[in-house]
Amino acid sequence: MFGIGTRNIGIDLGTANTLVYVDGKGIVLNEPSVVAKNTSTGEVVAVGEEAREMIGRTPGSIVAIRPMKDGVIADYDTTAAMMKYFLEKTIGNTKPLVMVCVPSGVTEVEKRAVVEATQQAGAKEAYVIEEPFAAAIGAGLPVMDPTGSMVVDIGGGTTDVATIALGGIVSSRSIRVAGDKFDESIISYIRQQYSLLVGERTAEQIKMEIGSASVQKADEGKSISIRGRDLMTGLPKTIELTSVDAARAIQEDVNEIVTAVKETLEETSPEIAADIIDHGIVLTGGGALLGNLAEVISDETSVPVFIAQDALECVAIGTGESLKNIDVIRRH
Ligand code: ADP
Ligand code: MG
Repeated sequence: MFGIGTRNIGIDLGTANTLVYVDGKGIVLNEPSVVAKNTSTGEVVAVGEEAREMIGRTPGSIVAIRPMKDGVIADYDTTAAMMKYFLEKTIGNTKPLVMVCVPSGVTEVEKRAVVEATQQAGAKEAYVIEEPFAAAIGAGLPVMDPTGSMVVDIGGGTTDVATIALGGIVSSRSIRVAGDKFDESIISYIRQQYSLLVGERTAEQIKMEIGSASVQKADEGKSISIRGRDLMTGLPKTIELTSVDAARAIQEDVNEIVTAVKETLEETSPEIAADIIDHGIVLTGGGALLGNLAEVISDETSVPVFIAQDALECVAIGTGESLKNIDVIRRH
């Protein structure tokens, strides 16, 4: 808790994780966007990490809910309850000024829902900022300058590509190919090639440990042993999976991301394209950490590509930092 007075808070209300940034403190909370509820009374039983641990293990009367889907609110009351809990946990009962990020291209109705849920959760004032813009601020890009920047945020549900100049988004594109899709592709590849059924957690672990955005660049010596259920016998089985396998599994998904980046580059004005060639493309979000992804995007576009420092926290940091310009935001 941080005592009395108004606090400036940034919230990255992600499909997978919610992060809370407090001005002057940095990231103070990073928990799964999950709420456990009692089905008969509707009462909230647990939120965040504690609720996630209940997934798949809940007794009949308790259900674990993910209230966000594809970056927007799917269950309004549960989202508000979750935010209320996270705000109380981080700043107590003070009435903060809150900025929440939303994916670019969401509707006014969806933005309004985020603002209202934030107010219901205890905010004195609530505003929204577009995620690629927040990611760019968090990555330290000169968003207010005339110089153009490009950011590619690869999250759980979506990949968002945006060019930014003079404090605004010049062009953007959002595709539903990102971390979750990689996991699904890994699951179906292993089912087809090895008749083995593996879970989501295993697929994610494979991606993080030996994943590669390129089959050619994949390290053949790198492998992990994974366990699953043999589809022929129905019994548990262990196989050795290589980095080349993992790369093959997600090749098409990676191509779609590369295409989205290329198309966005093709659409930009020659001046902004020149700035991007000079300063490079910045990758943010958890997907930015996929092995060889930065190299592949750079090879395919002939533009330097960098992974932002704190890739997973960039959006939350930028959302919080944007409150420093609250006077500009209030005028809009
Ligand atoms: P969101 O903002 O949508 O909640 P995040 O930016 O937090 O998403 O990123 C979550 C995604 O990043 C998940 O799909 C996760 O598996 C993936 N991820 C995290 N670390 C890595 C890694 N080292 N390599 C590849 N993917 C990763
Ligand atoms: Mg995100």
